[in-house]
Amino acid sequence: MLLEKVIAAPLDNNAYLIVDESSKQAAVVDPALAGDKLVGLAEKHGAKVLFILNTHGHPDSTADDDSIRKATGAKIAIFEVEAHRLEKNAREGRWFLPAPPPAVKPDVLLKEGSELKVGNLIIRTLHTPGHTEGSACFYIESEEALFTGDTLYAGSHGRTDTFGGSPAKMVFSLRRLKEFPATTRIYPGHGPETPLGDATWISDLMYPVL
Ligand SMILES: [Zn+2]
Repeated sequence: MLLEKVIAAPLDNNAYLIVDESSKQAAVVDPALAGDKLVGLAEKHGAKVLFILNTHGHPDSTADDDSIRKATGAKIAIFEVEAHRLEKNAREGRWFLPAPPPAVKPDVLLKEGSELKVGNLIIRTLHTPGHTEGSACFYIESEEALFTGDTLYAGSHGRTDTFGGSPAKMVFSLRRLKEFPATTRIYPGHGPETPLGDATWISDLMYPVL
């Protein structure tokens, strides 16, 4: 697997391009506003983007979903209960983006355990609510790679105090992720990558009192 990361303004979102080198098939994870750069990187590697994977529906993560689909013909995928956000984002003024993203209808509705093939890579969907109701992580077991969006960062987790967030579900989701091998590489939606084994703080998290 070849992995490219672009850090996209204005909120320093990590946008990833995953390329299976043998087949030259590729996927984007959380494009943010890095669409042009990601499409350029795919062209540089001679790769065809098959999927645009969204860990969740917040506009800072999904802003260039539509532009990449138009440029490459890739299919937009998001967890099923999160899909409504891709349309709603267009109607909400967002102070941090230069313009509201267009309304987007996803092509693929992911479920717990859904598997997408990108060449020899199998990308498995894990439903990890907490940051939003339909947040998901994407796991590539053969590469020991886990894309965690705004669920798990190096040393912390995403916020749980906005619409659809749940501190209790976040704790449940983080504990679930902690069961994966300690050597798993975490590729988060913001900040540096980290080995899962460093996330010892998850074991100390208490369920919030509701
Ligand atoms: Zn978010």
